[in-house]
Amino acid sequence: MGTTVEILLWAPNSQRASELFETAFAEIDYVDATLSNYKANSEVSRLNATAVREAVTVDPEVFGLLKRALEYSRITGGAFDITVGPLVKAWGFFGGTGRLPPSRALARARSQSGWSLVLLDPEDRTVRFRREGVELDLGAIGKGWALDRAADALRRLGVSAALLGVGESSYYAIGAPPGLNGWQVNVTDPADTNRVLATVLLRDGSLSTSGATQQFFEIDGRRYSHIIDPRTGSPVEGMEQVTVTAVEATDSDALSTALFVLGPDSASVLLSGGPNRGALFVREARAGPRIVAVEWPGGR
Ligand code: AMP
Ligand code: MG
Repeated sequence: MGTTVEILLWAPNSQRASELFETAFAEIDYVDATLSNYKANSEVSRLNATAVREAVTVDPEVFGLLKRALEYSRITGGAFDITVGPLVKAWGFFGGTGRLPPSRALARARSQSGWSLVLLDPEDRTVRFRREGVELDLGAIGKGWALDRAADALRRLGVSAALLGVGESSYYAIGAPPGLNGWQVNVTDPADTNRVLATVLLRDGSLSTSGATQQFFEIDGRRYSHIIDPRTGSPVEGMEQVTVTAVEATDSDALSTALFVLGPDSASVLLSGGPNRGALFVREARAGPRIVAVEWPGGR
């Protein structure tokens, strides 16, 4: 995943803790080996290479994740879209820090993305692309999925207090540390990471932040982020960071990316789709307030 995964957990002794860590990291490794675009033999790379020529059967768990991702495309009007792969590449964000694409390359990438180009057949559990050049990119939902899977594995082994984090952008909390009400997670200001904007007490829930990695490039004072608005084919402008809470990290991860594209005005509807959901936006202060909270726990 090109990032660090950190797990804190309570266990009766260190040997048990080691076993638990191994189980949890095996789940993380499975997700990385399955979804990575940077590994030629991952399931997603296999799909990207072959699903335009034939319907490719995938394992039930991956099929379930793809279904969930396409459902997010549907309910966000295409703001969340795992077919942004060609656009991410055209804008130079695949293994790079971004650049303006030549207009022909951009036009081609636009024609190769769009969630309706992915056909899922639940009967055969197959995936097929409707056009040459389609490439899935699960970067906006895979980290959350990895956390949910690792947390499930730990729960099945009896863990009742753990905090799992990926790259300081997504967290999932199991229970609470002994004697406390939850795990304290800070949301910091992308302009000054020493400044804490909000503190959330997580308990059997998740929090994901999009944009905090500071992946963007600037030309003539315009800032282009690594999150693409699939409806225009261009990077989102004007948004610095979006944090979302939700029960499952798969949902908070997908929603933080979607709301980075959609902005605060569309937040209420999406947040009402599940319990304990809230969003905290940090925008470039051009017009209106820089920080906007929607259904945010404890307000602001
Ligand atoms: P996240 O940090 O979870 O917001 O994910 C950002 C990553 O998701 C980017 O680096 C791209 O690989 C991919 N991505 C960019 N724009 C979108 C989008 N509109 N929908 C889904 N994935 C996207
Ligand atoms: Mg995301």
